[in-house]
Amino acid sequence: EVGHAHVDHATPEAVLEVVASGVRSPEIPDYAGLDDYRAGGGYGLLARVRSGAVAVEDLIATLSDAGLRGLGGAGFPAGRKWQIVRGFDGPRLMTVNGDEGEPGTFKDRYWLERDPHRFLEGMLIAAHAVAAERVYIYMRDEYPAVLAILAREIAALEAAGLTAPGFVEVRRGAGAYICGEESAMLESIEGKRGLPRHKPPYIAEVGLFGRPTLNHNVETLFWIRDIVEKGANWFAGQGMNGSKGFRSWSVSGRVREPGVIVAPAGVTVRDLIARAGGMEEGHVFKAYLPGGASGGILPAAMDDVALDFGGRLAELGCFVGSHAVVILSDKDDMREVAINLLKFFEDESCGQCTPCRVGCEKAVRLMERERWDAGLLEELCAAMADASICGLGQAAPNPIRSVLRFFREEVA
Ligand code: SF4
Repeated sequence: EVGHAHVDHATPEAVLEVVASGVRSPEIPDYAGLDDYRAGGGYGLLARVRSGAVAVEDLIATLSDAGLRGLGGAGFPAGRKWQIVRGFDGPRLMTVNGDEGEPGTFKDRYWLERDPHRFLEGMLIAAHAVAAERVYIYMRDEYPAVLAILAREIAALEAAGLTAPGFVEVRRGAGAYICGEESAMLESIEGKRGLPRHKPPYIAEVGLFGRPTLNHNVETLFWIRDIVEKGANWFAGQGMNGSKGFRSWSVSGRVREPGVIVAPAGVTVRDLIARAGGMEEGHVFKAYLPGGASGGILPAAMDDVALDFGGRLAELGCFVGSHAVVILSDKDDMREVAINLLKFFEDESCGQCTPCRVGCEKAVRLMERERWDAGLLEELCAAMADASICGLGQAAPNPIRSVLRFFREEVA
């Protein structure tokens, strides 16, 4: 059942019942609840948006000026997305992608376990902006504390009259990486196997249950209140090296203090390592993954590349994706790193198209040979990148291409 995701209806009551039963009793961290959040002015912006005191057109202009982009990995401008979805006739729906399956990524969890209402308010504002009839939050089941928090806080919102009962529904995804691909996620919410759809049509036009759908990552929605209240210039001014805004970087690997680091868009890995307390004792910085499993691998010598969508990073065949930066050291063998990543893609391929299903498997076999056949691997990478249906198969060759380009002496 490769690529299959079990999905369950999770009403707030049902989740709270499971939590109370102790079947799995997650450690619920100390987070800001509804009262705390409202005491700090929370939900004031939502009220102003709903009353028309803040016009949706102005909101869209603010988000566009701020440079807010989709932070799930694709980086599509958020304001533009609202405009596109509003352009299609309703009824419309909204989905939130909380699958957070890209290896090395844990920023959404970080915010949801600390300040869930900042995300929920952003979500309700976005839902209002596109006149969504309903919102579905697709949340990974590996985050039981988040599921419990959402159940509790959505129930609190309903009790406070801030959202209609049943307007927001949480769906649980059961760990298929491919269900983080937005069209596969929609299939999964519809109760089907999570297979990515052919595009076009894009989900903004034909999305969940065939309706125009606004889909956002958790962190994208998290920033909305602050951007509108503090102004587009406040957010845009936070970037470095020509980029705009804050990003939540999941920094892991051979550093002293792995974790989520809020730092400017356009920051360099050198800066991130310093903010993470430096390299781990006994490790020398050798390489890094700028964007989880899919975003390629760069050598330590390229520690001055501005990390953001596009730019020099893209010229190097890499991308920042969900901003998961994994630091590797002299103790890491680049061949093994690349094989590990390709085995992950082989496992997680939904199997729907041949270049990805067969390509990942063949790539692993070729990479396990003592000497890599660069010509053959490059040919295979081209077929996978050019002919796969979705981003998984298109990005799977990135680690291979990076090793051939920057670490060829280790596999020659
Ligand atoms: Fe499935 Fe891979 Fe094809 Fe995507 S590229 S549709 S994951 S087989």
